[in-house]
Amino acid sequence: MPYSDLSGITSSLNIKEPEIIELHDEIFEENGVNVSMLRLDKIHPVISGNKLFKLIYFLKEAIECVNKPIITFGGAYSNHLAATAFACKQLNIKAVGIARGEKPKAISHTLQFCLQNGMHLEFISRSLYKNKDAEFLQNLKNKYEEHILIPEGGFSVLGKNGASFINNYFVDKNFTHVCLPVGTATTFAGIVDTNNNKTKIIGLGVLKNFDDIAERFTNLKVPRSKKCFFIGDYHFGGYAKETPELISFMNRFYSKHSIQLDFVYTAKMMFGTYDLISKKYFEPGSNILCIHTGGLQGNGSLAEGKIIYK
Ligand SMILES: *Cc1c(COP(=O)(O)O)cnc(C)c1O
Repeated sequence: MPYSDLSGITSSLNIKEPEIIELHDEIFEENGVNVSMLRLDKIHPVISGNKLFKLIYFLKEAIECVNKPIITFGGAYSNHLAATAFACKQLNIKAVGIARGEKPKAISHTLQFCLQNGMHLEFISRSLYKNKDAEFLQNLKNKYEEHILIPEGGFSVLGKNGASFINNYFVDKNFTHVCLPVGTATTFAGIVDTNNNKTKIIGLGVLKNFDDIAERFTNLKVPRSKKCFFIGDYHFGGYAKETPELISFMNRFYSKHSIQLDFVYTAKMMFGTYDLISKKYFEPGSNILCIHTGGLQGNGSLAEGKIIYK
């Protein structure tokens, strides 16, 4: 059973079991592969995707230690901040968000959402944000006393352990490959960590010059015996960058499958998967699962009309 020790939280948040759906496309047929999608984007109307899983052990701790606020970090369009704000509001946990960059005149839709959900926001300069030195952390301690600090993007062993719950949804389904987008690599590590080494787990990086996966996995305490595959070619210029090719892929994908993708993560992962299929990366007979990790609120930063579903 998924969430055996976390079911209290998922039921308080009304989290649904995600479906796995099969996708149909001539390209898949021509190359003899099956492609399915795990719809983590559908587990909840607001906190969709992988972010909830990375948060879940921190939320559990906060519920058990009443009055300890959760403090975490993110940029102006952070899915992580939005998910944290919403989950904390629902569970009556105090939440503080440290936002990257000086406070702008018009704050982003994401940060507005955080404020509406009762998150206290502090804006700090980009240089301070990047370093988060000992003095800065000490100041947080002085100001907020006892608190639960969640690293940016949930990058931590607890975040990884939470992400491994995602395996429960597909472990008994005989997929030969699982593809997912990689940001901090916490979710990737969680899925690899509890994988049986029969399924090939393929992480597709969404940042440029991603060259420290091994180090990240060591930090997250993933045993070296666990196999994984990382592909860094589909970043489209870097984190949160997009190109007309990516946007038209998102529109075509939506027209064909009626599934929305976000431009920061899931569109790059799906584009990469299609490209790898057409390049015969997967042997015929492969049964591929793509994980839709949610994050659709991020499309709010695209200009109106750019994608056909916004
Ligand atoms: C944050 C995020 C990711 C990346 O997850 P990591 O655990 O940081 O690698 C992937 N997809 C979506 C939609 C996200 O919001």
